[in-house]
Amino acid sequence: MTCPICGESLRALDNPAFAVCPNEKLVVNLAYQTVRYESDYFDKEYKQQYGKSYTADRQAILERNQHRYDRIRHLFGPATHPQVLEIGSAAGYFLKAMHDEEFVVRGWEISKTMAAYANARGLKTTRQDFLKGARAHAQKKKKPYDVVAMFYVLEHLPDQQEVWQHLARLVRPGGFLLLALPSAAGPTFRFHRNDWYKTHPADHAVDYSPAAIKRVGARFGFAVSAIFSEGIHPQRFPLGHIGFLNRLYRKAASHAPLSDTIFAALEKKA
Ligand SMILES: [Zn+2]
Repeated sequence: MTCPICGESLRALDNPAFAVCPNEKLVVNLAYQTVRYESDYFDKEYKQQYGKSYTADRQAILERNQHRYDRIRHLFGPATHPQVLEIGSAAGYFLKAMHDEEFVVRGWEISKTMAAYANARGLKTTRQDFLKGARAHAQKKKKPYDVVAMFYVLEHLPDQQEVWQHLARLVRPGGFLLLALPSAAGPTFRFHRNDWYKTHPADHAVDYSPAAIKRVGARFGFAVSAIFSEGIHPQRFPLGHIGFLNRLYRKAASHAPLSDTIFAALEKKA
C-alpha cells in the first residue's frame, strides 16, 4: 500500500488496519469503507457520534463557527476576501456566521435535507459532492474563491492527491483554505492508541497531524498561517484528571494544536 499523497510505501503501525507515510506522516486507514452521506447520515450517524442530532445542536455549532472566524479574522476580512465557499456546508451555520460578517457565501452540500435547510434561510447552497463540484468548477474554468472552508470533510476522501489539486485551484493566490479535522497528534493517538484504533471511524480514509497538514499543504502551494486546537479535553492527557495538570494541559492546548481535533488556516501562495 502506498501513500495517497506522495506514492511512497507506507510503514506499518501496530494495528494492521493502519499505516503511516514516512514523508508527510499521514496516517492511512487501510480498512477504509465508503459511506453514503446523501440521506440519513446527519440524523443517524451524527446522533450516534455526538449524542444529539445536528440541528438540535444548533447553538453550540453557531458558537463554534463564530469562534473559528474570531481566531483568524486578523488574517483576512470581507473587504479583501469577499467570496467564501464552504465544501460540506451542512445546515449552513458557518456560512451564516460569515454572511453576518458581510462575506458573500456559497455552499456545496451533498445532503438534500441540509442543502434545502440552508437555501430556505437564504444561504446559497448547491447540492453536490466535493469531487463533482470541483471537477465542474475546473472544466468550466470558473474563478477561484478568496476563502474555501472544509470542516470534517478532508479525512473522508480517499483520493487525497486529487482533492488537494482541486483545493489548490479553488483558492486564489493570496486566498485562504480553512480546515477542521481530527488530529493524529492529539492525546488519544499519542497516549490511548488502542482506543484510537478501536473508535476510529471506518469512513475516515486518512488522519493528519499539524505537521502533516504543513507538509502536504506545501506540496500544493499552501503555507500554514495559523493552527489551533478545536476541542480541548485535558483529561485525555496522562494524569489529566489531576487538578494542576488539567489546568496545565488546558492552557497548553489553547496555545498550540495539541488536541484530538484541529483547525488550520492555510494561505495559497502564487
Ligand atoms: Zn506520503
